Amino acid sequence: MAVPSGVKYAVIGAGIHGLSTAYHLALELKTRGKGSGKDILVVDKTAIAAGASGIACGVVRNNYFQPAMRELMAHSVEVWESDPKSYSYHPVGYMQISPEVMHEGCASIYRQQKAIGYPSTFIEGEKDSMRYMTGIFDDWQARGITSVLHEKKGGYANNTASIYGLAAKAEGEGVRIMSGVEVTGFEFGGNNRAVTALLTSKGRIACDYVVVGAGPWVNRIWNLLDLPKTVSIKGRDGMMHHGVRMWKYWCLEEGTLGVDPDMHKTNDGSMPPVIHVDTDAPLHSDIDGSLITDKLWGLYYKPDFNFGGVQGGSSPYVVDQDPDDVAIDPYGPDSPDFIVGDNFIHTWCSMLAHCQKRFEGKIGIYKKDEKSGGLGCFTPDSFPVFDVFRDNVFVIADSNHGYKMLGVGKLVAQEIAGEKSRLLEPFRFSRYAEGKLHPVSKSPFPWS
Ligand SMILES: Cc1cc2nc3c(=O)[nH]c(=O)nc-3n(C[C@H](O)[C@H](O)[C@H](O)COP(=O)(O)OP(=O)(O)OC[C@H]3O[C@@H](n4cnc5c(N)ncnc54)[C@H](O)[C@@H]3O)c2cc1C
Repeated sequence: MAVPSGVKYAVIGAGIHGLSTAYHLALELKTRGKGSGKDILVVDKTAIAAGASGIACGVVRNNYFQPAMRELMAHSVEVWESDPKSYSYHPVGYMQISPEVMHEGCASIYRQQKAIGYPSTFIEGEKDSMRYMTGIFDDWQARGITSVLHEKKGGYANNTASIYGLAAKAEGEGVRIMSGVEVTGFEFGGNNRAVTALLTSKGRIACDYVVVGAGPWVNRIWNLLDLPKTVSIKGRDGMMHHGVRMWKYWCLEEGTLGVDPDMHKTNDGSMPPVIHVDTDAPLHSDIDGSLITDKLWGLYYKPDFNFGGVQGGSSPYVVDQDPDDVAIDPYGPDSPDFIVGDNFIHTWCSMLAHCQKRFEGKIGIYKKDEKSGGLGCFTPDSFPVFDVFRDNVFVIADSNHGYKMLGVGKLVAQEIAGEKSRLLEPFRFSRYAEGKLHPVSKSPFPWS
């Protein structure tokens, strides 16, 4: 199919952000009498859900140490709840289970969740934490846990199903989605600032406004937009730090234990909340008892019929390469480089066994034949950048926090329609130069 010669709004990327923005922008334009979904074109170099959104574990939670992230997540959870069927959303709740070193941080999250009316329960102390956990799973055995934050909202959604659901909603509003159209450059006008056209593998598309939802490929689009490869950051020490790389890659490690998902039900036979455990208890091999680590470690997991087992992951690792040299394609399970190996399988299965007896001795049924894992592109402080560049390009760079952030597209759409968003304000690019940085937690994950 030929690309149109021109559109009002061009969206790059048919993942969670591109499609959520397109869908909500269509609604905004209609409501305000400013147009409709027919004014919007989404292009994707591969297909709907071909990027990180299509392989995400799908966890939706509020648990963040940063107040601005928490408020944004509370908003996103409302969007998930607005149409659970189309979004394939399972509101089973979420648990952050932590050691003493994270106790005070989690207590402050709980206090602030109360302040914004986000429902959660907070259990403190080793004995009470153990009692609470065994009340849910009678085989719970993780040691050294001194707090449990149980979020009653959130849960998880099925990755590709939710993105297809979102695409159908956008198309229902008249949005066009074109697969196999790769943006290879931009044409600039007006003092060489604003984008006047996308240059694509299928031809030139003139446009008035561009939204970038390119996920792990954001570094490439950033380069095509001729934006700076390094930034200056005013640090917590009040000093300016120059020449900090704008983008870096981390590889996420996830997989599936091939058990019947039903075997991870709670004591009362319900589907359990998503479990996230961080701990400094020594981790021993479930195969031979040898010590794997005595440093802080963490894992998350949930029963998932879509993946066909208990699915989850552990901490990602930094890809120590110039971002321009990282082989993003082929992406996800098709990558020869960025998929999990035996080390992850051994460690993650041992972590599961550390937490619950039912997972002991199950490493043999880990789903080894299904490749998993994938790259995420992170900003200098590992928090999102949501901002307008070159006058008319809205870049949604979620720093890999983003499947759960379904609501960001709604806020971006409102901004494009002319209404500034208080929730997006803490995520402007200018925060680096101004030193308006988000607080950092003690979690072993770069996204908590
Ligand atoms: C293994 C893994 C597990 C994760 N689990 C979770 C989780 O449980 N919860 C959570 O909240 N987040 C999770 N994340 C993070 C989350 O998946 C991402 O932050 C989010 O999906 C990014 O969405 P996006 O729309 O920006 O990008 P994507 O979903 O990656 O979509 C970008 C699209 O842009 C297209 N594209 C790229 N370049 C071009 C171009 N030049 N021209 C045209 N199209 C282009 C790609 O083909 C792709 O389809 C996970 C990430 C990974 C890798």
